[in-house]
Amino acid sequence: MRPAMNKGPDRDLARKKCGKRNQHNQFFKLRTFSHELLPNPYKKNKNFDKLVQALGKLVVKIELTKKSRDRPREVYSNARGSFNSSGQIIFSKLMRSTRSRHCPCSDCKNTSKRRREKEYAIISIKTAAHAIFNEEEVKNATCTLNFDVIGARDLKLKGYKLDEERTSMEFDTSTFYCITHDLELAKSLIGTIYQLKRSHEKVFKRYPKKQDKNFVIVVSHPHGCVKHVSFGRLKSKSSVKDLDGRRTLIRLSYDAITCPASSGAPIYTISQRKIWYLPSHSSYVTRAEGNISESNVVWESMQD
Ligand SMILES: [Zn+2]
Ligand SMILES: [Zn+2]
Repeated sequence: MRPAMNKGPDRDLARKKCGKRNQHNQFFKLRTFSHELLPNPYKKNKNFDKLVQALGKLVVKIELTKKSRDRPREVYSNARGSFNSSGQIIFSKLMRSTRSRHCPCSDCKNTSKRRREKEYAIISIKTAAHAIFNEEEVKNATCTLNFDVIGARDLKLKGYKLDEERTSMEFDTSTFYCITHDLELAKSLIGTIYQLKRSHEKVFKRYPKKQDKNFVIVVSHPHGCVKHVSFGRLKSKSSVKDLDGRRTLIRLSYDAITCPASSGAPIYTISQRKIWYLPSHSSYVTRAEGNISESNVVWESMQD
């Protein structure tokens, strides 16, 4: 038998004060996650181990130390202290300096041309706009990678720049960039993004029936704690906006548990057609059937 410590949330999360505290046992530490924790018919499928570990490696904890004064008043503008959320690394690219293009990180900017790093990498992180909403907040944000267990050697990246085209408060989505000189990290992240794609393709083929495809997996940093996995079912896809009669924007709702700071975490569904842009967790509502979580707004065409 497996030791009991392998199951459920870590001690830190189990103790957090929260309106959903009695449901915290539906969170499982990423570190000890196994496909055997999943319900049928997924329980016997080992592909979920690779899939969840790859998804998990791409999840970061985002810590915003200072909120922008430009935050709309209704969007957590009053909450004190640092604001924690989750995010997903969606892109990693190795770059080489040219005569006209140099590493834009502050270290390199403040040093002589000769001493600037020749190679660097751009890492792109997707989250919710209510977590990080403008350039000022990006600069006050720190992303922690590999925060899987307390005391582990984690890795921090400072926010560098907002991707304005991919940021919208209306749809609660934002994307920003970090710069690193850790080229090995950047390379391994590229590998992980492809690993997630391969695992997803295997899982997607394995469950051809629509009702089996509505399985949802969330990896997040609930309450800013270490990475946890939660899962459930897709409940509905509600249309938010019909742009031109062909392309519709939707919001997913699901019953996987989420807590404060799960915001911005990737929402994996087997029905996802393309893995590059997963919806991000946005909010939750209390309904007669219990707590229902909701994603940010995504294109309907991204879902099967
Ligand atoms: Zn640099
Ligand atoms: Zn909670």
